Amino acid sequence: MIRKPISRITSVLIGLRDGTSLRQQIALLAASLCILSIAVAAFGAALIARGEAIRENRWDLTLIARSMAQRLDQTMFDRYREVRNVADMELLKPVWTRNPDIIRETLDQLQRSLPQYAWIGFASVDGTVVAATKGMLEGASVAERPWFVSGLKGPAVEDVHLAKLLDHLLRTSPDEAPFRFVDVAMPVKDENGKLAGVLGAHMSWSWAEETRRDVLENNLGKEGLDLFVLARDGTVLVGEDAEGTSLSRETAAYDPGNPDMVVAEVETSGLGDYPGLGWKVAVQQPVSVVSARVAALVRNIFLIGFAVACLSALLAWLASRTISQPLLGLVTALDRIGRDEKETTVPRLHGFRELSQVSASVRSLLRRLGTVEESARTARDMLAVLKDEYSRNIRSSEERNRQLGADIRSLRTLAEHDSLSGLLNRRAFQPFAEDAFATFQRHDRLFSVLMIDADHFKTVNDQFGHRAGDDVIRAIGDAIVEEIRSTDKAARFGGEEFVLLLRENDANGAWVLAERIRLRIAALTMDAGVGNISVTVSIGLAEVTADDRDVEDTIARADQALYIAKSSGRNRVCVDYPTPRSQSA
Ligand code: GH3
Ligand code: MG
Ligand code: MG
Repeated sequence: MIRKPISRITSVLIGLRDGTSLRQQIALLAASLCILSIAVAAFGAALIARGEAIRENRWDLTLIARSMAQRLDQTMFDRYREVRNVADMELLKPVWTRNPDIIRETLDQLQRSLPQYAWIGFASVDGTVVAATKGMLEGASVAERPWFVSGLKGPAVEDVHLAKLLDHLLRTSPDEAPFRFVDVAMPVKDENGKLAGVLGAHMSWSWAEETRRDVLENNLGKEGLDLFVLARDGTVLVGEDAEGTSLSRETAAYDPGNPDMVVAEVETSGLGDYPGLGWKVAVQQPVSVVSARVAALVRNIFLIGFAVACLSALLAWLASRTISQPLLGLVTALDRIGRDEKETTVPRLHGFRELSQVSASVRSLLRRLGTVEESARTARDMLAVLKDEYSRNIRSSEERNRQLGADIRSLRTLAEHDSLSGLLNRRAFQPFAEDAFATFQRHDRLFSVLMIDADHFKTVNDQFGHRAGDDVIRAIGDAIVEEIRSTDKAARFGGEEFVLLLRENDANGAWVLAERIRLRIAALTMDAGVGNISVTVSIGLAEVTADDRDVEDTIARADQALYIAKSSGRNRVCVDYPTPRSQSA
């Protein structure tokens, strides 16, 4: 069921791939690799940047929390000191229990200077309020109130709590939020150093709210910022929901484990002799605010990456020309073979190793095919001539035999030689070459092969015409014949390319001969009517080795050496040794 669509998709993909040019594929590959590596880099950068941004953000929040904690401690310390100063005031010592009016006046004054004080009062040792701001609660008993109990023992601070006795006195309407206080209590001694009672101050907790608002306003630029003050037990004392009236609503907004928030906590530590109440300041900001900054960074990396990918695709497209161009050249050359009589082989390709290997293999293949084809053609021609001969019916058998012998000889010459240079053709050369190889295999008799190719021959044709080109080919052929021994075989495989088979000759001997041929041809000048022609040749040399599978392999190695001679500057001999040596002209 599923197989069919999958195989259809595969065949569509294969079709797409085969229809896409090599250059397009290389460009596409470069772009994909680039996009892939940019994506990985961007993802990694995002992770690192996010971690870094959160760390930095947490540090910012810590600084804010620390400043809030310091302000809380400072305020509490100031109030603590003020109340203690009043309790220790020498002037008041004689009057604490005796003159409530003076005490009340002093306390009223303190309250006027700092409206944060909701109530300041003095209670005698039995807990009865003797004097208080605005006379509130005077005569009432505070013996049970924690601040009084602690104050009897020594200087004390009481944590945030709801107003109890004072609530109905301070509240102007039932809708008003209930009062919350922080208390400071100090034992008071009379002039004899005897405990006279406790001085207690209730501070409205709203100052902490105001401080929080102030800190938040100073950091308006920080989106989503929130600040909480927590009691020792974790209850939210100040914070978004703590502004409300009921204590039960106060714990909702702060959750230190919330993964969507960056949180920093700082503990208050008290100041001077104010011991502190163990409050903690927590500041938080949504992670999304931090991530938004990182997202912008990642987007930019992606945009740059995309541009780089496009650029590298373009560069790959341009660079891949060096691969596709010679291949297209090979295709064109192959296409001409069999259509144009002059085109018998393909050019040697340059650019990269595989390319020269492909051209060497194709050239070797064409040489082998050419031999077969020539044999067939020769056989066909001979048959035709013989048929013709037979039908002509020569009168006398003697005459006929003589004529026949001469014909067969000239036919053989025709069949075995290249008409232009007079050298052997491929078909005639082949048996010699194979025989030399067989002798090498059987008796270890060495031979060498030279491949000779005229340099820049196209230019000769272009400048002096095709006929002059033919003359040059002939002259090169003559020069070669004059240099070689009778046991050596020289052939022209078509074009301006010659092959020499040097029997009983190792690479060193062949090298000397090759150099002689090269110098001789370089010294030739031919009159072309419109000017003198001189040519040079490049020569590739290979000595037969035990690794060669057949003589074609030896020829192919000579061809490869010729390729090196061409690419290293022409007019030189190169040997296909394991490490080729070359000699410049
Ligand atoms: P290189 O130095 O690389 O060998 O350059 P080149 O110009 O010689 O290049 P190549 O060997 O590829 O080209 C050979 C030219 O010789 C191409 C072809 O037109 C010409 N040619 C081939 N056969 C004949 C021929 O029988 N007569 C003439 N006049 N020209 C020929
Ligand atoms: Mg040439
Ligand atoms: Mg050539």
